[in-house]
Amino acid sequence: MCDPSKVTGSCANCGQKNIPGSGFVKSDLVRFLAVESGVRANEFVDARAEQRKSEVTEVAGPTLQCRQCVLGARDVRDTNGGFQWGTQKEIVFPTRPFGMTPSKDRFLEYVVMKVDNNESKPAHGMGIRCGWRVVEVAGCDMRGEPVEEVQKTFKDAKLPLTVLFDVPEEEWLHCMICELSFPRSRLSSSMECASCGEGPSTSVPEVDAEALMDDWEDDTDE
Ligand SMILES: [Zn+2]
Ligand SMILES: [Zn+2]
Repeated sequence: MCDPSKVTGSCANCGQKNIPGSGFVKSDLVRFLAVESGVRANEFVDARAEQRKSEVTEVAGPTLQCRQCVLGARDVRDTNGGFQWGTQKEIVFPTRPFGMTPSKDRFLEYVVMKVDNNESKPAHGMGIRCGWRVVEVAGCDMRGEPVEEVQKTFKDAKLPLTVLFDVPEEEWLHCMICELSFPRSRLSSSMECASCGEGPSTSVPEVDAEALMDDWEDDTDE
């Protein structure tokens, strides 16, 4: 187990040094100490030497970035993809299961993709909708943590459980074709995403039908 209060580190991206453990994504520290240390032995030797002196483990390496840098990269990627979050909302879950399913791999963190309508599960009734993103669980910062880590925390936590969410600026709806969800304005009037149909941002170039036919005939070898 990893106690961030006993870790200090450097960021490979911004170059900042002596960052307290709380300035990193916790699962990054755990992964770094458990796996990277074995692979990148030199770094771990240094870290141990440092630990004996001050009881603080110093970590640094090419794959370790501070939370600010991790979240900065996340925000650039999400903004480019047309995803934006505005307000935050706190929800207290009284019972399990909560009745929500996260996206598997479209986002860095736990972003709700499906909400169960079943009234015996609390999520829908408490207003949680597609696109909500987990920020804190029981006061623990979950920004930058992978979905599996958040799910594990949900499972292990005591009830009632307080969860802080980022709420999208716009309602998210599902594409009719691929069923992935997008902010409403990213879907066409026939509810198709840009890659499935003619999304609002995709302009269709004028095509000369005759020229196209010629091309097609040239390419066809019968
Ligand atoms: Zn950094
Ligand atoms: Zn689609």
